[in-house]
Amino acid sequence: MNLYSTLKELCLAHSISGREAQIRNILAEKIAPYTDTVETDPLGNLIACKKGRTGDKRMMLCAHMDEIGFIVNFIEDNGLLRVAPIGGINFVASAFTKMVSESGVVGVLVPNAGVKAADYSPDKMFIDIGASTKAQAERRVRLGDAFMGAPELYKLGGKRVAGRPIDDRVGCLVLLAIAEKLAKEEIDSDVYYVFSVQEEVGCRGSKTASYKIAPTESICVDVTGTGDLPGASPMACALGKGAAIKIKDSSVICHEEVVKALDELAKQNKIPAQKEILLYGGTDTSSMQMVGAGSMAGAVSVPTRYIHSGVESCDMGDVEATIDLIAAYLLARG
Ligand SMILES: [Zn+2]
Repeated sequence: MNLYSTLKELCLAHSISGREAQIRNILAEKIAPYTDTVETDPLGNLIACKKGRTGDKRMMLCAHMDEIGFIVNFIEDNGLLRVAPIGGINFVASAFTKMVSESGVVGVLVPNAGVKAADYSPDKMFIDIGASTKAQAERRVRLGDAFMGAPELYKLGGKRVAGRPIDDRVGCLVLLAIAEKLAKEEIDSDVYYVFSVQEEVGCRGSKTASYKIAPTESICVDVTGTGDLPGASPMACALGKGAAIKIKDSSVICHEEVVKALDELAKQNKIPAQKEILLYGGTDTSSMQMVGAGSMAGAVSVPTRYIHSGVESCDMGDVEATIDLIAAYLLARG
């Protein structure tokens, strides 16, 4: 598959946490040719499985398909929409940007006049959809409608791309590409490709999916921050330096055998790789590690700049390395 055009297609779907149907339908269609079963669980997770030769072990890969956004919680008499945040919104990055609703209503997210950037918060911001009265707004928007930052993806220099929501459509892309790459390979283990819901509001979908699958080994694919920008916290992770093998974040300490195996496979196969130690934030990795009797969990991250803004940026070379590394892992240990 063409990685850039597939990533763009995935980014252009709308799917805030709890409303993932649109992206789920696209992913279900794309992964079906490479797997034996594709199902949606009660929470909305998409779970595809390629049966192994023996099925003695279950390898679970997981990437979340939801994105951060806003839900309309009040409509002012003058037609402006008040919104509640879904997920970890960066209000400064979100101010003065274009928003799009699930039904295609376009608006702009703006702070109240005179509010300083440091004081931006949901109760001091609104979405202007061009309505002059409450009745006009209500003809196009209802309470509970979801708005997302306008989706887009474009090329910067070299292999760099920018747009949103790269978090975590790039992880979904990695899973699709691995499924395609391994479609004709004979592996002993059952391999599960899980596209989880509601990660951005607390890794909810991955908990039930992990419980159902009870993986023996698991690898999460998500974005991670970098330390290669002015003012960044010290972090030995940079764009363009390869797949980031997670050692820890604030919710997980990855299994040392998984970390070691990923590290060795990167060296053996000459796949560009680096280490990730993230001081803040967590991913679906912790759900897979701790649900039920637990699994040997690790994660390979795609280094990404400006996470949760409209200009998230990553390097497609790192994406290729992430695909190659996890595929090598499944072939070696699956
Ligand atoms: Zn994410």
